[in-house]
Amino acid sequence: MAEYIQGATGEWEVVIGLEIHAQVTSEAKLFSGSSTKFGSEPNTQVSFVCSAMPGMLPVINEECIRQAVRTGLAMGCKINLRSVFDRKNYFYADLPQGYQISQFKDPIVGEGVIEIQLEDGTVKAIGVERLHLEQDAGKSMHDQHPNQTYVDLNRSGVALMEIVSMPDMRSAEEAGAYFRKIRTLVRYAGTCDGNMDQGSMRADVNVSVRRPGAELGIRSETKNVNSIRFMMQVIEFETRRQIDILEDGGEVAQETRQFDPASGTTSSLRSKEEAHDYRYFPDPDLLPLEFSQDFVDNLAKSLPELPDDKRERLISDLGVSDYNAGVLVAEKENADYFEDLLGELARNTGKDQTKLATLAANWVIVDLFGALKKSGKSITESPISTSYGAELLALQVGGVISGRIAKDVFENMLQSGKKPEQND
Ligand code: ADP
Ligand code: MG
Repeated sequence: MAEYIQGATGEWEVVIGLEIHAQVTSEAKLFSGSSTKFGSEPNTQVSFVCSAMPGMLPVINEECIRQAVRTGLAMGCKINLRSVFDRKNYFYADLPQGYQISQFKDPIVGEGVIEIQLEDGTVKAIGVERLHLEQDAGKSMHDQHPNQTYVDLNRSGVALMEIVSMPDMRSAEEAGAYFRKIRTLVRYAGTCDGNMDQGSMRADVNVSVRRPGAELGIRSETKNVNSIRFMMQVIEFETRRQIDILEDGGEVAQETRQFDPASGTTSSLRSKEEAHDYRYFPDPDLLPLEFSQDFVDNLAKSLPELPDDKRERLISDLGVSDYNAGVLVAEKENADYFEDLLGELARNTGKDQTKLATLAANWVIVDLFGALKKSGKSITESPISTSYGAELLALQVGGVISGRIAKDVFENMLQSGKKPEQND
């Protein structure tokens, strides 16, 4: 269902493609043994390789390779048994090598399709073009000294996965849903923690507009957007800006832009004419990366049940509603909590899980999530354990207490963290 935007001169369609940078969960960096721990003192996690001392050689960290393959598998993408690391050459103060090791023509993961579910229940397929591995750069710190910039190389060489979508999204809602889906998948796979406020996940947002059905328009690319809300603001702002330019008879410039959260606007960073020629070439320090199908198959076996499969199972095997299943599987911890609770409830009551799933799902989503949200806690910090939650529901199912009383006991348990019987 295409959503067109009404302009002064007729309808427009917005086209969006996302490049998502996801930091690989790994103790060590992509080509050195230095730690990746977040929040350490500047320049305390920097080896000779990360600081690009002459003559140092990168050595591939196999765990990062496994993580990229797991991610590709979780996304249902093609895994390339042979890929190549290239040098992407550019100068920047926080890039001591003078190039970034990345993958250009031969990425480790190829095409795939991600299904997203929209508010109105429709499902849409978004194409993925590729996932490649690359090094992160260091960080320039402009706020440490009145007229000097400091450089922190702790991030230098940390493994990133860049996940490039096809230009298949048509609204801010779709882009948000796609980003959330990718974040859910990497969290299930355990390959990226998805913490946007720590910079573990961020997106470059490509936006263009066109007349419905016309050729793709010229895009702007807004760099390093680090929240879903900002991403949606970028899309709305860019859509409006570009439509205004085109309706005034102007042309959209192909350029890189930056987002200003304070004003909710984007501004030009550099135009494509100033864009770099990166002079990509295969890194002579690294052989092509080759692994066997067995290596891939073993990693596939190590993946947990993925969100789409879990959702399907909750709906068809347990009778959980479509909506509730979607909410529960969005975060693995939520689904785990629900499934543990349901298992215990079935044992406590001797009833079949299918008879209890709807009650349990409603309790987890409405009562528990509602309370957690109010107190700003995550499910892993829940004052009510799965066993105590199951005991409470068992009392209700067994008719020992009414639904009304159960709500009161629930409120008390939130405060006390005690078993249901110990609250009165
Ligand atoms: P670059 O490295 O220059 O950014 P890529 O080929 O990696 O180029 O493409 C970047 C992203 O831009 C992809 O996610 C792609 O889907 C998206 N994209 C390409 N053309 C358009 C367009 N006309 N409008 C919106 N997005 C686009
Ligand atoms: Mg780009």
